[in-house]
Amino acid sequence: MNKRTQRALPALLGLSSLGLSSLGLSSLGLAPGAAMAEAQPQPLDIYYIDVEGGQSTLFVAPGGESVLVDTGFPGSRDAGRIMEAVHAAGLKQIDYLLITHYHGDHIGGYQELSKLIPIRHLVDHGPTVQPEQNIASKQQWDADIQKSPHIVAKVGDKLPVKGLDWTIVSSAGKTLEANMAGAPGAGRRNPYCADYKPKQIDVDMENSQSVGSVISYGKFRTVDLGDLLWNWEAKLACPVNRIGTVDVFLTTHHGMSWSGVPALVYALQPRVVVMNTGTRKGGQVETFQMLESSPGLENLWQLHWAVNGGLEHNVPGVFIANLETAAITASVIANPPPPPVMGTRPPDIGNPDHSPAWWIKVSALPDGSFTVTNARNGFSKTYRHR
Ligand SMILES: [Zn+2]
Repeated sequence: MNKRTQRALPALLGLSSLGLSSLGLSSLGLAPGAAMAEAQPQPLDIYYIDVEGGQSTLFVAPGGESVLVDTGFPGSRDAGRIMEAVHAAGLKQIDYLLITHYHGDHIGGYQELSKLIPIRHLVDHGPTVQPEQNIASKQQWDADIQKSPHIVAKVGDKLPVKGLDWTIVSSAGKTLEANMAGAPGAGRRNPYCADYKPKQIDVDMENSQSVGSVISYGKFRTVDLGDLLWNWEAKLACPVNRIGTVDVFLTTHHGMSWSGVPALVYALQPRVVVMNTGTRKGGQVETFQMLESSPGLENLWQLHWAVNGGLEHNVPGVFIANLETAAITASVIANPPPPPVMGTRPPDIGNPDHSPAWWIKVSALPDGSFTVTNARNGFSKTYRHR
């Protein structure tokens, strides 16, 4: 029995406590499953797993199918953290593993994870544009796509996850050129494009290949663009917003300023942003400032307190899943890090492991309402549908 079946039982008990059981479900003309589904729709659960400045996000669809987006860094740490979320969700397999791109902070944990749980379908953008970055997990991926069901995601494709509308909006350097059908705000001319300026970024171009997804469950919408770079994000928004508005936005590229173009984020009008920072990776001041002016944003939630953001820009601790030690926090406040230099790789300043590691969980319902929970302190907040 998985967790979803367990959650369905109280619904049955609720029916009998209302005295409906004595009527008999058949006399109401309802199959038992239909009565339960109408009484309480199952949520879409999203676990933003702490991989300290990489990405790993687990989607559990209302029907019980699962999609894992990325696997964090190499080694057993992040694979273990993914398995904690897998167990919490009651999963016995991962139905789709979508690798946004082949950098080590996204595909790194694949080799270890594949030993721990069956993975049914492998999804990627096709061949890498940085073959020199050929880590062990990528080598294993190349071998496994020869023998497992393999999907090369193309822009406009749908990932066939039961209960969700999962649309690919970027892949292999291409971006959606049509408006998303039926999406609120899609196809509108975007006034924020007036301030758009491209950035010259010509390193780590595998980022620009990222598989980006828009995921809908009824009226609830969220977007995950991997590490899609600034100029490619803008193609989704200028001159016309192709995606429309969303409820939850995962910061592109860990809140680094190579991504996070205001013309896109402001047009998406997210109510909630989750920033997948590590302590010392991502969470740059420019990105915080962009979000602080984002129209309609109700809360920013962070996977980590971000050294780069300092005292001024990190959100109140209740919204942060993983905190830094008091000594490091104090030293950073006294000696803020220098701003990053655009177009160069950030210095490898190390990311101390945090244990235990806490996730941020979103549970969404088809009416568009959703609840965000910080696993560290149990704080949760419900956002009613607009
Ligand atoms: Zn990354």
